[in-house]
Amino acid sequence: MSIAKFDRIFVAMEQKDLLKDIISHCKEYGFIFPSSEIYDGLAATYDYGQLGVELKNNIKTYWWKAMTQLNPNIVGIDAAIFMHPTTWKASGHVDAFNDPLIDNKDSKKRYRADVLIEEYVEKQRQKIDKEVEKGKKRFGEHFNAEQFKTTNPNVLRIQEKISSIEERMKKALNDNALDDLQQLILDLEIVCPISGSKNWTDVRQFNLMFSTSLGSVSGESSTIYLRPETAQGIFVNFLNVQKSGRMKIPFGIAQIGKAFRNEIVARQFIFRMREFEQMEMQFFVKPGEELMWYEHWKIERKKWHLSLGLGEDYYRFHDHIKLAHYANAACDIEFNFPMGFKELEGIHSRTDFDLKQHEAHSGKKLQYFDTTTNESYVPYVVETSVGLDRLFLSILSAAFKREELEDGSERVVLSIPAPLAPYKVAVLPLLKKDGLPEKAMEIVHQLRQHFSVQYDEKDSIGKRYRRQDAIGTPFAITIDHETLENHTVTLRSRDDMSQQRVAISEVEKQMTDHCGWPALFNRLN
Ligand code: ATP
Repeated sequence: MSIAKFDRIFVAMEQKDLLKDIISHCKEYGFIFPSSEIYDGLAATYDYGQLGVELKNNIKTYWWKAMTQLNPNIVGIDAAIFMHPTTWKASGHVDAFNDPLIDNKDSKKRYRADVLIEEYVEKQRQKIDKEVEKGKKRFGEHFNAEQFKTTNPNVLRIQEKISSIEERMKKALNDNALDDLQQLILDLEIVCPISGSKNWTDVRQFNLMFSTSLGSVSGESSTIYLRPETAQGIFVNFLNVQKSGRMKIPFGIAQIGKAFRNEIVARQFIFRMREFEQMEMQFFVKPGEELMWYEHWKIERKKWHLSLGLGEDYYRFHDHIKLAHYANAACDIEFNFPMGFKELEGIHSRTDFDLKQHEAHSGKKLQYFDTTTNESYVPYVVETSVGLDRLFLSILSAAFKREELEDGSERVVLSIPAPLAPYKVAVLPLLKKDGLPEKAMEIVHQLRQHFSVQYDEKDSIGKRYRRQDAIGTPFAITIDHETLENHTVTLRSRDDMSQQRVAISEVEKQMTDHCGWPALFNRLN
């Protein structure tokens, strides 16, 4: 059955070049464009193009189905972006949704003070990794990395340094001591990546919410905010959903939607934007059970990420150094992006803070009546919050590969998980004559009822395969003269470029096995 399989060599790419390559690839093939580009764009704002929107929608669908379809006690909502202004007073965002910013006087560039320190700490961690690598080389087979990390004097010294920095940063952030934060940057001799100087301003607080006004008649307008997180739309609807859906605790409410933050430094492509999309789930639990559910959702969310098949090494957990005012436990799932390990998803145990605050500000009870114990209480909340755009970037970062083929040519391939790929299959007549295009169109009509299909008859078959590899289409079907005789086609697989001759009737089944949602769902068990 299997006809051709080529050996490939992965072309090693510098991580810093990878992000550049991804950005230009996204533009060239219609995944992501700079926003309002004809006016030279708008900083940190991007538009998803014809392929980008398909990939993004597929990621959303997978998350949504995994949350709501696979969990009978989780339902979804779609709340408005605008909310009553008191919402943000109650949630603490008006008074406390601040980032500490610092400017470099020479480059005039602005940074988040905590991020500068975190990046310094990350460099220290990389030094530990290098020590471990050296140890591995020195001790060979019998090397025990864990033991090495707890005994090697160099590693212990760096580890101690990291702990002391994190301790100082945590204290400064908790005490809102901006001078201490600045002193830490000075003590660590952190330099501006642009100017290379240590000439820093004081640290100041900066509120991240965008405001606008509601109402067109002068005097009647009032300030409202573009939501900085989707979660509050869920909290204010907690009782509506619980009562109308007859939900029993524990239960969850999921939502996908836009959020807006006036980020001080919005860089690194779609990693940090001012307008972005979140996929959040708030899980309402009995007080006292929140930490058990927090652990549960850490495991479930890690499983979900691993189900994408990008590789376990891409992920790590990172406990929050400073807990937000509403949390009693919090961690991030970090992903190894081209610019290093960074937050992809937050998992937070938010206590009863939000519901209690909304009770206090609205004067309405937001309590759950437990019919088994005849008690009313304000539930505790565990949330999972992942950025859709960051998820998109994580998938592309792992999927983008340059490969050198046996014949010396090179191909760029996007190994996007098959169920998420913009097109699932390309239908390609070998020639533009002899009835092959007509036969190909018949197959297109049959398959497009189930899958997104692309038809392409232009250029040589090799070029067409390359085009499909570059946009991540998992399968290509080639129609040739034999197809007209015996109703078989060549089915080519994107990842290993293997080709097999299969009956047309068999194609649909193979496609369903690889591209249907169960291909991912089955990995969640
Ligand atoms: P960061 O520390 O990177 O600013 P955060 O801790 O403020 O992120 P959360 O408030 O926990 O982020 O938001 C949940 C998720 O929303 C994040 O894990 C991230 O994936 C996404 N997110 C937050 N801010 C942005 C942004 N400016 N652009 C894109 N995605 C974002």
